[in-house]
Amino acid sequence: MKKLISLSLITTSFIFASSHWSYQGHTGPKYWGDLDEKFKMCKIGKNQSPIDIKKEVLVKACIKPLKISYNSKAKNVLNNGHTIKVNVESGSYLYIDGKKFELKQFHFHTPSENKINSKHYPMEAHFVHLNNKGEIAVIGVMFKVGKENKAITKFQNLLTKQINIKKPIYLTLKADELFPKNRDYYRFNGSLTTPPCSEGVRWYVFKEPVEISKEQLKLFEKIMGKNNRPTQPVNARKVLY
Ligand SMILES: [Zn+2]
Repeated sequence: MKKLISLSLITTSFIFASSHWSYQGHTGPKYWGDLDEKFKMCKIGKNQSPIDIKKEVLVKACIKPLKISYNSKAKNVLNNGHTIKVNVESGSYLYIDGKKFELKQFHFHTPSENKINSKHYPMEAHFVHLNNKGEIAVIGVMFKVGKENKAITKFQNLLTKQINIKKPIYLTLKADELFPKNRDYYRFNGSLTTPPCSEGVRWYVFKEPVEISKEQLKLFEKIMGKNNRPTQPVNARKVLY
């Protein structure tokens, strides 16, 4: 009986995973670059994400506070088989050097993908922004276990193991609720952390984590499982702070 259940789970994930990549086994991160010609950057890229943000790669710089202006609502939430993703209506922006990047979606990884001082946090959220040239900027937010996270409370009852079912949510995006009080960040160049692993992504990871209750974290872990790509070589890059 047990065998039967696990077999049906495997079949389901094969049917729904868009290009048959996963976080484990023969379609796991080690093999992403071989699964599809379009995924080759996963294998040959030199500026891949995530990374271990540690002392050796840090460079002190005069970096400006992030200009974030979120004024929209979340549209829906879904489990796409790789992550829990919240899609966002237009109207929320991140401004970088006078360029306007629009927030498209945010999603979650357990444990964190980026490491800080060689340590994982139990969860990391990625807020994905695009500008009108198709360039990508991602804000990474770390979670540590503590108080209940009020923003997550607003949609946690919609989280499900069922794949690709979009559930409408009613959540006004407020940077104050989603992000830590202290917005000091690490800045580096990297890539998407999932296939096709495209590079040229501007990364901003807040130094201060936000809190999530143990029960909330368990819920994400139960639904997503381990969905972190291992950290990648930093190579010639530096992390500004
Ligand atoms: Zn991500």
